[in-house]
Order: sequence, then C-alpha cells, then structure tokens
Amino acid sequence: MRYISTRGQAPALNFEDVLLAGLATDGGLYVPENLPRFTQEEIASWAGLPYHELAFRVMRPFVTGSIPDADFKQILEQTYATGADGVFAHNAVAPLRQLNGNEWVLELFHGPTLAFKDFALQLLGRLLDYVLAKRNERVVIMGATSGDTGSAAIEGCKACENVDIFIMHPHQRVSEVQRRQMTTIFGENIHNIAIEGNFDDCQEMVKASFADQGFLKGTRLVAVNSINWARIMAQIVYYFHAALQLGGPARSVAFSVPTGNFGDIFAGYLARNMGLPISQLIVATNRNDILHRFMSGNQYVKGDLYPTLSPSMDIMVSSNFERLLFDLHGRNGAAIAELMANFKQGGGFSVEQDRWTEARKLFDSLAVSDEQTSETIAQVLAESGELLDPHTAIGVRAARECRRSLAVPMVILGTAHPVKFPEAVEKAGVANELELPAHLADLFERDERCTVLANDLLTVQAFVANHGNRGKPL
Ligand SMILES: *Cc1c(COP(=O)(O)O)cnc(C)c1O
Repeated sequence: MRYISTRGQAPALNFEDVLLAGLATDGGLYVPENLPRFTQEEIASWAGLPYHELAFRVMRPFVTGSIPDADFKQILEQTYATGADGVFAHNAVAPLRQLNGNEWVLELFHGPTLAFKDFALQLLGRLLDYVLAKRNERVVIMGATSGDTGSAAIEGCKACENVDIFIMHPHQRVSEVQRRQMTTIFGENIHNIAIEGNFDDCQEMVKASFADQGFLKGTRLVAVNSINWARIMAQIVYYFHAALQLGGPARSVAFSVPTGNFGDIFAGYLARNMGLPISQLIVATNRNDILHRFMSGNQYVKGDLYPTLSPSMDIMVSSNFERLLFDLHGRNGAAIAELMANFKQGGGFSVEQDRWTEARKLFDSLAVSDEQTSETIAQVLAESGELLDPHTAIGVRAARECRRSLAVPMVILGTAHPVKFPEAVEKAGVANELELPAHLADLFERDERCTVLANDLLTVQAFVANHGNRGKPL
C-alpha cells in the first residue's frame, strides 16, 4: 500500500515510512492511495471473530508490503489481548451496551488509560518498535497533551525498546487522574514534562521542534497525535466490530461520534468507503463547534477556544478534517493546499455547494452545551442506570436529536470511562461513588515522576537532547 499527501506535493510513501513520518513535507496529511474495498460476503464471513482477528482482516491491506502477515497477526494478538495479563480489561475488548431499543453505546474505555485512544496507541507503540528494530533505528517522540493522549501514548510506548517518549502537559492544568495516569508510569524511556504555561504553549513547542530538528543530532522525531495515519487505521476496526454484532453488513448501522479533531469519525467514514453499510455518521461536538458549523452551514472558520466539561474535544481547528476535504475535492491536492493557505491567513472557507451537499448525505452534526451535557448524563442514568462520561453524553445527545431512522441501529461511541471526569459527573448532580477499575485502584497512592520546566523552547529541547537515549544524552 502506498500513501499520498492531501496537498499533492510530497513523495508517496509506504506504510513503514508513513508510520514514522507525521506531517507530509508539503504540510499535508497522508492517506491511502487506494482504499481497500471488501465485499458484503467477505465482511459477513467475519462475524464472531475475536477482536484481534477481525483487526487483522480489516487492517491487513494497509500494511501489505511492509509487515508480513505472521508478524502483523502476532502484534495484533498482543495489542488486543484480554484476561489477566492482557491489555484490555473486558473480554469483548469493545463491548456494546444497550441503552434503549436499538440504541447502543460501544464501550471503548476498557484499555489501560480508560479512553478510546488506547485502541490506536497500544498498536502504534508496538508497530513502531517492530519497524525500528528491523531498521536498527531509535526515535524520539514528543507530544503535547491536555489530557487523554499523553497517558495513552505513554502506556503504548512504555515497553518500546527503541523509543524515548517526552510528553508535555501544562503544569497544574490537567486533572489529577489524568496527571497521575502519566506520571506514575516509570521507565528509563518515559519522560513527563510539566510546562509552566498552557496547552497551546506545549503544542507550539512540539510544532517548533518538528520544524527544526537539529537539537536531536540526527535522531528522528515521531508524532503520536491523530495526524499519524496508523492511529486512524486502528480506529476503523471497531466500526466493523460493532456493525457485525448488530446485523451488519446485511443491515445498515448509524454512528454518533464525539469528536474534536475529526479523527475517530473519519475512521468511520473510511469503514463505510471500505464496504461497511453505514447510513449516517453524526458529528457530536461541544461548544468548540467548528465541525458543526461546517456540517450545518458550510462555514469552516476558526472560533475562540472555550474550556468545557468535555476537555478532550476542546479544539479550535480539526486537524483530520483535511482528509475529508481531500476526498470532497476529488483528491485534488492543489485545491486543498489553496483552501488551507486561505484558512491559515485567517480567512476560513466554504466549499462549493455540491461538495457540501455530498458530505451531508452521510454526515449530520450537533454542538452540545455543558448544560445539555450534564442534563444528558443525569437523564441516561435515570433511564437505564448507565453512567456516561461527558464526551459520550454528547454523543448520546447528538444521536437522539439527529437520528434519521429508528429502524437503523444507532451506535454511540463511548470514548471514555466516567471515572476520568469526576467534575462533569458531579455537575450532573448524580450521586455516584466513582470507583477506579482494579488496575488503577491504587492510582492516588503511587509515586509520581515528572520534571517541571520553564515555558521556553531551548530549555525543553536541551532536556530532550540530554535524556533522549533511554534517559542518557543523544
Ligand atoms: C480524544 C478524545 C475525543 C476526540 O477524538 P477525535 O480524534 O478528536 O475525534 C473524544 N473523547 C475522548 C474521551 C477523547 O479522549
């Protein structure tokens, strides 16, 4: 499989190089040159497969030519292992739970960090280590996090022999659960940095480091945010997994997806284009609603950033949206380069009417306020006894308001465990003893390891250079 850039000017790469690449050299994002397409018979024959075997069938075409089948199978078996020594705490890996008649939550929070990002980052860490061992290479990962990505990336890379990971979070500005999920994981290749600044400061330093990598003395820098193709690829699998349990592919399924960066929902769009009958995809956002403004009114314009009860979707710009725009424009890289240049100059944009109409055949959207989020958490708990996290609650709200057909099963992606967001649960006014799952039961007693650094690029880069080789200088 070859991968091309959404802006048309960067060289095509194979899977292995895309895994290590991050942004394309022309500023675009990598997408498969040709999407694999499965027949209905083929998809139907996967019913009942264990998660890792389904994952193999769905993802195999994407890694062909880079990873032999036997190796890929083994990696997937380890990634999606369940049971006592497993990675995922539920035997079904991603269980479906019924809320109402024909309304389901796909629970994606049974991984080590209790959010759906584990599905992709557990795989990404293993793939990186596999590819790097083969090439006899080491890399450094730098990432910025306001919450869930950092812990999932650290958990995903903690066993990597060939990766040193540096995760920056804004000092004293992430929740205690989220901080402890990062700082209590020890390893000579794991480095937590608390920056005396905000999330944007952290992200700017990551961006600046990618733009000028001289401080790494030749070591490659790798991205773990959702622009990395491998993350999107891993997320396609659970759409198949859910649909197969609800009568697919003989029957269509609809999905409602809490989203910020358009990563998770883009994976659903790909699943449909690969042959899975999906009749509707709902973009569920919080008050940071750039995607909703596009879907409802064909305006893609940067707004202000509002902190909300669903912090993992607090974004101003949706990085993966460019991948959808590329398809909407007939995969014309030059057109996307022009749109994005306009956008960067602060202009924002609309797309031509027929392109927008095309998108609306599949996508609907809703922006959900904090008040509505709290209301939905309380409502669903009263109705069905399920305590939702605020992100999932947004998905449920949007599913109920935007649903096109009651005859089509509606699956809401349950992106996080409610225990990660006690503030939102408290605001919903529901009395509930939130208990950490067994593997995190002693989280608040564990020692923490973290370095506080000034909000200064050179200081951070010097720290990375001095610790980037399993804690030793590069
Ligand atoms: C990251 C995250 C999201 C948003 O994911 P996208 O890739 O932006 O769609 C939603 N919910 C939770 C809990 C998350 O951690």
